[in-house]
Amino acid sequence: MVMLDSWGRLGAEQHQAHYLHDANSVKDVVSAGPGLARGMGRSYGDVCLNPGGAVWDCLGLDKFIDFDPERGLLRCEAGVLLRDIQLLAVSRGWMLPVTPGSWFVTVGGAIANDVHGKNHHSFGTFGDHVRSLVIQRTDGQRMTCSRDTNQDWLSATAGGLGLTGLIVEAELQLRPVTGPLLDVDTQAFSGLGQFYQMSEDAKASWEYAVAWIDCAHPGSRRGIFMRANHRDVSADNFDSGIPRQFSLPVTPPVSLVNALTLKPFNAAYYRLHKWRAGKSVSHYQPYFYPLDKVGEWNRMYGPKGFYQYQCLIPGTNTEVVVEELLAAISAANCGSFLAVLKTFSKRPAAGLLSFPSEGTTLALDFPNRGLKTHDLFARLDSIVGSVGGRLYAAKDARMPKSLFESGYPRLEEFLAYRDPGISSGLSRRLLGD
Ligand SMILES: Cc1cc2nc3c(=O)[nH]c(=O)nc-3n(C[C@H](O)[C@H](O)[C@H](O)COP(=O)(O)OP(=O)(O)OC[C@H]3O[C@@H](n4cnc5c(N)ncnc54)[C@H](O)[C@@H]3O)c2cc1C
Repeated sequence: MVMLDSWGRLGAEQHQAHYLHDANSVKDVVSAGPGLARGMGRSYGDVCLNPGGAVWDCLGLDKFIDFDPERGLLRCEAGVLLRDIQLLAVSRGWMLPVTPGSWFVTVGGAIANDVHGKNHHSFGTFGDHVRSLVIQRTDGQRMTCSRDTNQDWLSATAGGLGLTGLIVEAELQLRPVTGPLLDVDTQAFSGLGQFYQMSEDAKASWEYAVAWIDCAHPGSRRGIFMRANHRDVSADNFDSGIPRQFSLPVTPPVSLVNALTLKPFNAAYYRLHKWRAGKSVSHYQPYFYPLDKVGEWNRMYGPKGFYQYQCLIPGTNTEVVVEELLAAISAANCGSFLAVLKTFSKRPAAGLLSFPSEGTTLALDFPNRGLKTHDLFARLDSIVGSVGGRLYAAKDARMPKSLFESGYPRLEEFLAYRDPGISSGLSRRLLGD
């Protein structure tokens, strides 16, 4: 038995771990189920935990199977890290079309949560670029699914929270790039109206767009808007290797994020970026993965861990509701400096349970302060629920079942694809088994 936790560090649980290394022996392990596939455990809550049960650790399924440098087609096993794909592909003129804010994520994990990046309006989600998958079910069946064969299984498995079977391998369509560099434009905004205007303006001519918002500022909703495009030149001089990383060496006895530190930190961050506003050139790594620079930064929330609350407010007219959420967060004096605001565009979802959909997403980390934090979440849930919004399962450790059911209207359809030999902490909490 091993103790496993997830990124939020809300409490390690006992698991029986099976380490997969060989794609041919996956069937024997999975058929002996029940269990749950696990990648890097970078999900924040219990979607990657199976407390008291088995996990199939996929990190040993780390082989590249085939790469077509002419067409940018990559076949690899599901435990390959996004980092390794970027390092392989960028120097050859290709890149992942969609990537989340950390590259310490496996292909299997990226598919199971149908992750998104800063470019939903131009490239959709990770699942949009999966050409085919091989899935191992616990009844022994191994299935290939693609846009032509078993297409419905592809859309159940992209965003399927690991519950449709173990993904053994995937074929991904990469996108061409001229090099590792991005042209970045950074602007300060004051007021949500300005954020929405900047997002709208960015859609037509910027591939990436994301904002940081100062949730501790008492006045207008100030923040920093960052948009970027791939730079149209090659840059052979640029190092595309693994950036230097430093780690938090210990877990502090209390959260470093608290009422005393939040306001001054946010104010300093805002001023620094406002001062540096304007055009710059950035390597893709710090722009896509700023938090990866600090290993185990999740320890800064202390021994009780933290929650991330990521919601989607649907529609095009979301300013009033986002303002209501921010006002509730300010009033509770919680929140952290990791507060991100993005808009998603209207496009068909890759998966039945994909999180992104037309609207605005707000993501914030909260130190775990027990009841106080849960009271705030109840308030936020009621706002999100009242407008037909949803929470992101990859970040969740506590959403009520009713909010999951109302937020994901294709849930019933999805259930037909579940593998009865797979369950997680999240599935037991939200689906009953
Ligand atoms: C710093 C940071 C930034 C992030 N930024 C973003 C972001 O911008 N956008 C975003 O969408 N997400 C983001 N995330 C969340 C992260 O991308 C997802 O949680 C991702 O799914 C984690 O992948 P993993 O390999 O760690 O999988 P795990 O967390 O271990 O597992 C996640 C799910 O995938 C399933 N799974 C894993 N491997 C397989 C497999 N082989 N077959 C079937 N199912 C499998 C698991 O059962 C589980 O349901 C971020 C996370 C961090 C820590």
